[in-house]
Amino acid sequence: MKKINVGILGATGMVGQRFMEMLAHHPYFNLKVLMASKDLVGKPYSQVCNWFISREMPKEVCSMLIKEAKPEAMSNNGVEIVFSAVPADIAKELEPKFALAGYKVFSNASAFRMEEDVPLLIAEINPDHLELLKAQQQSRRWPGFIVTNPNCTTIIMTLVLKPLLDNFGIKEVLVSTMQAVSGAGYPGVASLDIIDNVLPYIREEEEKMESEPLKILDADFKISASCHRVATTDGHLEDLHISLAKPVSIEQIKKVLADFGKDFKKLSSSPEKLLIVTDDPMRPQPKLDRLAGNGMSVTVGRIREDSVLENGVKMNILGHNTIRGAAGQSILNAEFWAENNLNYKSI
Ligand code: NAP
Repeated sequence: MKKINVGILGATGMVGQRFMEMLAHHPYFNLKVLMASKDLVGKPYSQVCNWFISREMPKEVCSMLIKEAKPEAMSNNGVEIVFSAVPADIAKELEPKFALAGYKVFSNASAFRMEEDVPLLIAEINPDHLELLKAQQQSRRWPGFIVTNPNCTTIIMTLVLKPLLDNFGIKEVLVSTMQAVSGAGYPGVASLDIIDNVLPYIREEEEKMESEPLKILDADFKISASCHRVATTDGHLEDLHISLAKPVSIEQIKKVLADFGKDFKKLSSSPEKLLIVTDDPMRPQPKLDRLAGNGMSVTVGRIREDSVLENGVKMNILGHNTIRGAAGQSILNAEFWAENNLNYKSI
């Protein structure tokens, strides 16, 4: 496949840095343009980015100069795809400008996720939602488009709900999260607020977890979410309780989860196993499991009966918030789009 030139909007942030790490040597994508806020324009990436990733900053990107976040920044670079990792209010203003200028925007921001004509995509779950792009381009008169990926906690949970829904049906879901500080961006939560502490509220997070999975799954069961910020760096842990539509054994549930994704055609960023099912009662843990499958797998453990819910099962699930929960999912979505040559319109 001919490589596609790409740009990153918000290249210096927590998610932007993961994009940099994952795109620096990508087989389909060529990293051409880095954009951030106006103050950083014209400066080399290595000078302005507070690099947070343990692997070294890729050499190729150190001297790339930050460009202003506008479509004109792309001129003469042959960029086709823009990966967006800016805050929602900025995304609301900027992403349509890029789509209008003909760019294919794959966004992590929440600004357009719930709009009817915008795919909220997890490529392994609802690839058919890309069909919405035809209507989007027509009604908005955009030669480009916007595809969004869900909130980080939603991606992790929905990957687990999908095989359970398909095989057994779901009546209701109760979920409680323990979310890492990198989920709040950089600098994010003040250290005095989070060290030796747990914060019992994350703004707008519960609403996203209760609505986004239903759009992705085309489902109408009820979800009740309770979201907490904890003092881990990366990796969101979720305590999930599900009422299934029929009685099922724990062994059947484990098998269905472990088998999920086997039929999905492997893309460059696909993990070997989508869901890693463990019987170790001490797993999953953020420290030990967040980088499973290069951060693209979700680890599922402590699968056991929930004796309160009807046909109840409970489990702990864990995924990497800035990889599977953000940049990695966006890249995988774009890989799916590119592999399937879904070139709805070109610039
Ligand atoms: P972050 O660390 O705060 O980074 C924000 C990025 O946006 C920075 O690169 C920043 O550039 C840039 N930016 C801010 N204002 C801008 C402007 N006016 N014009 C151009 N660029 C601007 O946030 P993050 O955690 O990476 O999150 C990025 C997006 O992904 C958000 O919408 C977030 O909700 C979503 N998301 C985050 C996670 C996660 O785990 N962190 C997971 C899923 C989705 P400067 O350095 O120049 O300020």
